[in-house]
Amino acid sequence: MKALWYPGAIRDPGPAHKPDGDRPYDHGLIFHSTVGTSYSGARNVLMGSGVTNWHGTIDYNGDFYQHYPMNLHCDHSGNHPMNDRLVGIEVVGGPVGHVSEPWRPAQVARGAHVLGWLLDEGWIPNLARTGDRKSCYRHREVSSTACDSFRCPWNPIIRIVKARTAPPVEDEDMADPQARAAIELLIESAHLQQSEIDMLKGQSKFLQAVATNHQERILVLEKSPAGPVDPQFAQDLDAVTKATEQLEKDVAVIEDKLEDAAAALV
Ligand SMILES: [Zn+2]
Repeated sequence: MKALWYPGAIRDPGPAHKPDGDRPYDHGLIFHSTVGTSYSGARNVLMGSGVTNWHGTIDYNGDFYQHYPMNLHCDHSGNHPMNDRLVGIEVVGGPVGHVSEPWRPAQVARGAHVLGWLLDEGWIPNLARTGDRKSCYRHREVSSTACDSFRCPWNPIIRIVKARTAPPVEDEDMADPQARAAIELLIESAHLQQSEIDMLKGQSKFLQAVATNHQERILVLEKSPAGPVDPQFAQDLDAVTKATEQLEKDVAVIEDKLEDAAAALV
């Protein structure tokens, strides 16, 4: 019996009445584009009054939210015979103005992992992108739509799945330079992300130290016998207070960036 829920999924069920019963054929899947920048935006569509519904959503940070068990027939392609057959997965990103936004490294890793799981469980029959047995689709290949605006990196993720499922060492897939290149690319981007995180941490520490120093100076100025009555002291006090406020804002911005970078790395 096939597992209905991806083991790493965060279960966030959609409205129970939306799917059209059982999905009669395990034919393949579509990775869609949410054309938006947040999971909550996509979730609002799922929970709203529209008919569209799909099996799961991959967030920017690689989290996979599953909305329905894989055996249900979800309406996500606008093409009825294909809806019956295909698993539909939305991928956050590609907002208007940046519709071809590439999947982030965490999305590539998750997409490949979900794809491998669907294959292992038998929810999709193979990894073919062409021919009679084709099972890996872009939305635009079954309906008149721009989706997914060529966002899904089909070739690399298929290579990753093949390398993952192949026995280690001396296997043809592992020896395949393209599979290796795809994996090396992922490792490289994780390293880049890590060095960006280290750099942001350094910046944040430095700015915090300067801000603390300024705060101490404010105390000294406030306690000065000349006090804020002296126009020069008052000016200095004002300048240092403003600089400290700006530094604190800069630290907050860096810490947001740090959080985003750390989330994308997981
Ligand atoms: Zn789509």
